[in-house]
Amino acid sequence: MTPHTVLIATSNAGKLRDFAGAAATFGVTIAGIPHFASLPQVVEDGTTFEENARKKAEAYSRSVPGELVLADDSGLEIDALGGAPGVHSARYAADEPHTAECNTEDEANNARVLRELANVAAERRTARFVCVLAVARDGHTLHTFRGTAEGVILNTPRGHNGFGYDPLFYFPQIGKTFAELSAEEKSLYSHRGAAFRAFLSWYRSTNDQNL
Ligand code: IMP
Repeated sequence: MTPHTVLIATSNAGKLRDFAGAAATFGVTIAGIPHFASLPQVVEDGTTFEENARKKAEAYSRSVPGELVLADDSGLEIDALGGAPGVHSARYAADEPHTAECNTEDEANNARVLRELANVAAERRTARFVCVLAVARDGHTLHTFRGTAEGVILNTPRGHNGFGYDPLFYFPQIGKTFAELSAEEKSLYSHRGAAFRAFLSWYRSTNDQNL
């Protein structure tokens, strides 16, 4: 790898697009971990975003000795639902999201959010996306970074870009849902963009010290 390549531990094409969008302007190359799909999957059973992100970064970094590996855990916290779906965002449509082993379809997850919020008034539909990034090398976490984006959950989806809950997540600051933004625009405002910029500034400041 070149000195400015950071490997991302994800098979989620939407997340890779988001990271690449944010990295483009910083001269840092983002690549997926080689043969990621064939590595044993890390079970995301932590109770916090940070716990899951660290667990993934540490486990996957062992498969690429000496390389910096970045892993994220992210999700949507809806205030009227006590912070749900939270760390269970990727499998919220499952009967038991706490114990489900497989992710559920974005469309089904969005449908469940709409069902749960059916009787919740507009002013109480506040929510935030949260992203925690952990950077690890050789099985040890070096640092974690947290980013958030505050918004409101709509009654009906809007827009066709992005992934996950993007079509329901209205961002008042620009009057659009996240699914109405390009990857570059989304990285300016998103939780993942904010966490990633925090990582990049850490990376720059530590790079000189022979990271
Ligand atoms: P993770 O892979 O465990 O981090 O799961 C993240 C889940 O949270 C995704 O499957 C989405 O459902 C949701 N999510 C996280 N970030 C975003 C985003 O930027 N847009 C839409 N949904 C997101």
